[in-house]
Amino acid sequence: MGERPADERVRDFSEVDTGLSAEEAVTEAQRCLQCKKPSCVKGCPVEIDIPAFIARIAEGDFAGAAQVIKENNLLPAICGRVCPQEVQCEGQCILGLKEVPVRIGELERFVADHERKTGSRLPPKAEPTGKKVAVVGSGPAGLTAAAELARLGHSVVLFESLHEPGGVLMYGIPGFRLPKEVVRAEIDQLRGMGVTILTNHLVGTSVPVSELLSYDAVFLGCGAGLPHFMGIPGENLNGVYSANEFLTRVNLMHADRFPEFDTPVRHAGRVVVVGGGNVAMDAARVARRLGARTTLVYRRRKEDLPARRAEIARAEEEGVTFIFCASPVRILGEQCVTGVECERMEMCATDASGRPEPVPVEGSRFVIDADMCIQAIGQGPNPLLVRMLPGIRTGRRGNVIVDEEGRTDLGKVFAAGDIATGAATVILAMGGAKRAARAIDRMLRNS
Ligand SMILES: Cc1cc2nc3c(=O)[nH]c(=O)nc-3n(C[C@H](O)[C@H](O)[C@H](O)COP(=O)(O)OP(=O)(O)OC[C@H]3O[C@@H](n4cnc5c(N)ncnc54)[C@H](O)[C@@H]3O)c2cc1C
Ligand code: SF4
Repeated sequence: MGERPADERVRDFSEVDTGLSAEEAVTEAQRCLQCKKPSCVKGCPVEIDIPAFIARIAEGDFAGAAQVIKENNLLPAICGRVCPQEVQCEGQCILGLKEVPVRIGELERFVADHERKTGSRLPPKAEPTGKKVAVVGSGPAGLTAAAELARLGHSVVLFESLHEPGGVLMYGIPGFRLPKEVVRAEIDQLRGMGVTILTNHLVGTSVPVSELLSYDAVFLGCGAGLPHFMGIPGENLNGVYSANEFLTRVNLMHADRFPEFDTPVRHAGRVVVVGGGNVAMDAARVARRLGARTTLVYRRRKEDLPARRAEIARAEEEGVTFIFCASPVRILGEQCVTGVECERMEMCATDASGRPEPVPVEGSRFVIDADMCIQAIGQGPNPLLVRMLPGIRTGRRGNVIVDEEGRTDLGKVFAAGDIATGAATVILAMGGAKRAARAIDRMLRNS
């Protein structure tokens, strides 16, 4: 798949990937062996019939391909862009044993984009059941649960605390990876299926818990929006952001266009981003687009970076400087950030995660000059609503404890996505939500 040159794309927020042409999609689809026991499907948490949709593309039936995907996934343009296919469907593709696996993600994206341009068809709905379900949170978990429940004939109200639905898809992942018009178009399909989406509704405050529990069933998809901080001196200085706050300001509130929009973001010439996951890459690449010299500090080695390889390569191409085996110990400044003091780390015996344990090297401290420090070291489940629900059990990290079908300890309340797993991926949130929606359906039909 083509991409825009780094020196051009680093100056705007337009999408980096340019997508496949129809000819390229057909040629790629023809590489698929149409395996009788397709291992790729085992790698897909929402169980798309991958060989079937690829076969339609190979025949030039793009609308038919879209219908096959939508039987199991109503958000294909999103998944085709942000799913880590290299460790899921493509990671299991039989062709990968000898050559390059079929580019399933690019094909999924092509089909979804083609359908968006030519007019989309909604999946068929079951007869109305008369049951009402409340869904809290409109990230991939909430959207998937709402779509599945609506498809099964239930009446669904989806509550979202922010002014736009989409969760991390809207406020976290930047537009150059996932254009917002793509997210909006896929969410519009839910409205078309009869789902009522209520934004600016924070369940637990503007919507009382008693109202929530008056529904026949409840699905919680509140995500993991609680940022972690390092707990080092200087974190209260002006110019220190969590990646969540920084990205939300720019992606959702358009702070890059302040004062045209109300929300500002600090104008920094030099930015230090701390972390090594997808969130850190996104924050660093956004900072570059705001014109800052950007340094990413990671405590382990390059090969240990948890972010997707493609996103690391793109951050490098766009001019992000990486410092490996180093960790901040103090943020410097009087009122505002002037620098980040770090120390070198050496890699010792492997830790519980199977990666080498970083240990500080004595006398190795150094300072990176900076006006802004963005911490992207992880985030935990959103605690606000969960604390208000009587009898709901949570784990050590604040995640809601659920069984395999997303059932919590609280009768008719189910949960999936980051609120249950801790920070994970879009497709895992969708897979969990789909299982929970089917369990809710069974419960409602038997009640
Ligand atoms: C910057 C960033 C980049 C990422 N990149 C990728 C990637 O490339 N690929 C990938 O697969 N994953 C990626 N992830 C992870 C992925 O986005 C999450 O795993 C996924 O969004 C989790 O979905 P969710 O529906 O559980 O929660 P979320 O997407 O967090 O949605 C939760 C929603 O619930 C709302 N909410 C919370 N509490 C309430 C309440 N009380 N009342 C009403 N609404 C409420 C929130 O406002 C939010 O909109 C990334 C995450 C971040 C932060
Ligand atoms: S495993 Fe690969 S080759 Fe086989 S059906 Fe799936 S995509 Fe096609």
